[in-house]
Amino acid sequence: MDFKDYDCILIGIGEEFNENQNALKAYNKLASLLVKKNYFIVSLCVDDVIFKSDLDKERIVAPLGGKRKKQCPDACEGRLYDINETVCPICKKELVYNNYLADNYIEDDYIPMWEKHKKWVSLTLNKKLLALELGVSFKFPQIIRWPFEKIVSLNNKAELIRVNETLPQLSEEVSGKGTAIKENSVEWVVGI
Ligand SMILES: [Zn+2]
Repeated sequence: MDFKDYDCILIGIGEEFNENQNALKAYNKLASLLVKKNYFIVSLCVDDVIFKSDLDKERIVAPLGGKRKKQCPDACEGRLYDINETVCPICKKELVYNNYLADNYIEDDYIPMWEKHKKWVSLTLNKKLLALELGVSFKFPQIIRWPFEKIVSLNNKAELIRVNETLPQLSEEVSGKGTAIKENSVEWVVGI
C-alpha cells in the first residue's frame, strides 16, 4: 500500500478494530504511513484505543462516542462529565460512558469534529482520493459504508478499498472504482 499516489485519504475504521489486541499496532502502522499526508478518519470503535495511538487526534471523529467522558444514562442534564465523576447530581443515578450504548446517548461531543470532517470531504471532490474502509460491518451503514460509496461514486479520481473478513462486497455504485479484500482488516494493516 502506497499512500503517496493519493492527494487525500479517507479512512473508515469498523468493528473489527474494536477490542482487538493488535489494534494499537495497526493504528501506529497507519500513522507511520500517513506522516505528512492529508487524511481524515471516521471510527466506529468505542474502545478509544485509536486516541492512544500516534494518529493525529485532530483528524479523527468517533460518532458513536467512547470512554473519554461520562453522562447521565437518562440525559436528564444535557451535559457531559469528567471521567472521574460518578453520580449525576440531579437524579443521583450512576453516570455511564458517553457512547451509543447509553440509554440516551448525548451526541454533542463529536459534532464539531464531524463538521470538520464534512468540510474536509467537500474539499476532496476534484482530488485523487483514496477511501480505505477497514472492518466495517452493516451495523451502522449510514456512518461509513454508504457515505464512502457515495463519496467515491461522485469523484472521478476516487478509489475505494474495502477490507473485511466477512463482508468485503462492493455495491454497483462503485463498480470499476473499488477493490474488495476478504481479510481481517487489523491483520491486513499490520502486514502492509
Ligand atoms: Zn440524571
